[in-house]
Amino acid sequence: MPDAKVYRNFIGGEWVESVTRKTFENRNPADTRELLGHFQASNEEDVKRAVEAAAEAYKRWRLVPAPKRGEILYRVGQILVKSKEDWARQMTQEMGKILKETRGDIQEAIDMSYYMAGEGRRQFGVTTPSELPNKFMMSVRMPMGVSALITPWNFPMAIPSWKMMPALVCGNTVVFKPASYTPLSAYNLVKACEEAGVPKGVVNLVTGSGRGVGLPLMKSDAVKVVSFTGSTEVGRAVSEACAPTFKRSNMEMGGKNAQMVMDDARIDLAVEGALWGGFGTTGQRCTATSRVIVHKKVMKEFLDKFMARAKALKIGNGLNPSVEMGPLVCEDQLNTVMKYVEIGKKEAKLLCGGSPLKSGDFAHGYFHEPTIFAEVDPHATIAQEEIFGPVVSVIPCDSLEQAIQMNNDTIYGLSSSIYTQDVNRAFQAMRDAYTGIFYVNSSTIGAEVHLPFGGTNHTGNGHRESGTAALDVFSEWKAIYVDFSGKLQKAQIDDVTW
Ligand code: NAD
Repeated sequence: MPDAKVYRNFIGGEWVESVTRKTFENRNPADTRELLGHFQASNEEDVKRAVEAAAEAYKRWRLVPAPKRGEILYRVGQILVKSKEDWARQMTQEMGKILKETRGDIQEAIDMSYYMAGEGRRQFGVTTPSELPNKFMMSVRMPMGVSALITPWNFPMAIPSWKMMPALVCGNTVVFKPASYTPLSAYNLVKACEEAGVPKGVVNLVTGSGRGVGLPLMKSDAVKVVSFTGSTEVGRAVSEACAPTFKRSNMEMGGKNAQMVMDDARIDLAVEGALWGGFGTTGQRCTATSRVIVHKKVMKEFLDKFMARAKALKIGNGLNPSVEMGPLVCEDQLNTVMKYVEIGKKEAKLLCGGSPLKSGDFAHGYFHEPTIFAEVDPHATIAQEEIFGPVVSVIPCDSLEQAIQMNNDTIYGLSSSIYTQDVNRAFQAMRDAYTGIFYVNSSTIGAEVHLPFGGTNHTGNGHRESGTAALDVFSEWKAIYVDFSGKLQKAQIDDVTW
């Protein structure tokens, strides 16, 4: 398809070609014959220009009253509402997840735009009494400057919005480098910003590889804050690149999330949860349920029902409304899944699935069967490493305490859940699960934008996205003391008596 559209970078309010004059292709993983467009294969010179544009725009943007910045974000949300259906279809075409889920992805960006628009009129600090008379004290948030946003492909609009909206409402400017499998959704989000009236240079888009664009961004002295979502492996490299200049870095990385199913659980509900958590987005969610820890007393019933439901899932092109699971995003991801399935066959009992789908309607895509392993040892490779595909490991347990211990026993710590009817057990699990997100009688997926999102251990570095926690990523606290006594007062030294 030689006439596929060529998309450009957005720098300083202009749509421009990369200095490299090179592009890369965006193809449909459900049918790779479908070429969606060509995107700029940018390099460090493009990054430099984008950072300069963002630094220049920051001088004015930081002084725009936050409620006015919020109003622009509100308009972004309205544009996303208007374009939701078209852009959801494009998202399904570029990364494969089913239409219902891509609509949800854009809805999340809408929710975040509206939520952060409201923060334009909040961004609360504190006032607190001074220990000295005639002295006033408060803390206020101040913006930081140019923010670099580096995002993965699995939530092509939601995740960029988790970063962009709080960055903007706090008064920062942005250079956004999306994943190369999903540049079209990134382009659409930036288009929405342009149409909403985000001033020139405040949002900049530079497409290209991690090495060509991501790394130079991390190394730029003018970038003050980096918000990265991706794999733990790349996150480590990003952290190291940020360290010499002491950039604030917000790292959101991998997961190996577990759903615990107790012997008093409603099994049908737990099966629904495991199905949605394990195979939704073809298992390519950071919060995907890749482990299910099931009490031995209910193991047989759970496995019979879970396997029956997994086998019945309809796989195909996500634009087809009856399809329940789409392809993997790319060949590498399919190969990774196949590699882990081979490992799993040696480590555990393959219950269903286990093969790629290559014939008929699947011939030109990266499809794989929903796959369940049973009798998995909690320390097996498939129970410890992030697979990021439609593969679920079911691990037997004897008690709640053992389930929680298994739940916590990975290098990750993003999300977990418990199915039980016993409120005492639910609260014990809530307290003892060492994950940033926890669900009761629900799957490990389903976060909403107004609570903090992120994880412990190698999933994160202590920051959180979403909710007001996101403001802490994109602002610095300033403590302000105003002395109206008309004399020099000394804290901790003056003896104040009345
Ligand atoms: P990835 O780490 O391969 O890439 C993420 C981004 O980093 C991409 O834009 C990529 O181009 C860029 N990048 C690659 N090398 C770089 C470098 N050296 N310097 C700077 N940038 C670089 O991840 P992915 O395959 O796009 O996404 C899947 C991973 O993301 C999974 O591990 C998943 O768990 C994780 N994820 C985490 C969350 C979360 O919130 N915790 C959410 C979604 C996805």
